[in-house]
Amino acid sequence: MSGTLLVISAPSGAGKTTLLKRIMAEVPNLGFSVSHTTRPPRPGEQNGVDYHFVSREEFLAMRAAGAFLESAEVHTNLYGTSKQAVAEKIASGVDVFLDIDVQGARQIKAAGDPAAVFLFVAPPSWPELEKRLRGRGTESAETVQVRLANARKEMAEAHWYDYLVVNDDLAAATEMLKAVILAERCRGRRNASGAPVAIPTP
Ligand code: ADP
Ligand code: 5GP
Repeated sequence: MSGTLLVISAPSGAGKTTLLKRIMAEVPNLGFSVSHTTRPPRPGEQNGVDYHFVSREEFLAMRAAGAFLESAEVHTNLYGTSKQAVAEKIASGVDVFLDIDVQGARQIKAAGDPAAVFLFVAPPSWPELEKRLRGRGTESAETVQVRLANARKEMAEAHWYDYLVVNDDLAAATEMLKAVILAERCRGRRNASGAPVAIPTP
């Protein structure tokens, strides 16, 4: 039994973290790949839960040792997905969300894993994206500018993803995302909880 890799990308501030928290609470048998990053923790973020926070030296040593499925520099920090953590979850039949940027998603796409599904979350408009990013209050004016500049590049990649979810109304976007997960379970001959289904024989 093996689960699906749910690769999800969005410009910073689109609401991906908010959506994922809701979906993880509502849909059984979902896992989340905790990335490694050199970014400093935000208030309230926990090491090992939100990210594995590591120094640049630690990160580069891990990357040199081939520990990452993908890695990228995003908004001046390094981020990477641990091969081992993902492989263990997938092998146990859990569908695993990879919350990664478009560069990392392209690396996974290029690897050609047939069990990977690509989802893009877009904001309803540019002014709304900027409002959410500033409203979150976690970035300095300077890093907001870096993230908005990157958002332009990320939105230009949305076209090649398998699914697009526009996060306008949060409840409606959560339903859309849930529908994608359930559809992918049907495609994989699994039930709504992610367990394999046997086609009854006469
Ligand atoms: P991301 O993980 O994509 O960077 P967050 O989940 O941190 O984004 O959301 C950015 C901000 O926007 C947060 O303050 C969040 O509460 C808010 N937000 C998320 N989804 C919506 C929505 N559908 N409508 C209004 N505000 C939202
Ligand atoms: P944040 O700093 O806001 O948590 O994340 C910034 C960006 O880095 C987001 O687009 C997020 O998806 C991306 N990101 C987080 N973890 C990883 C990872 O392991 N690999 C890649 N490529 N991007 C990541």
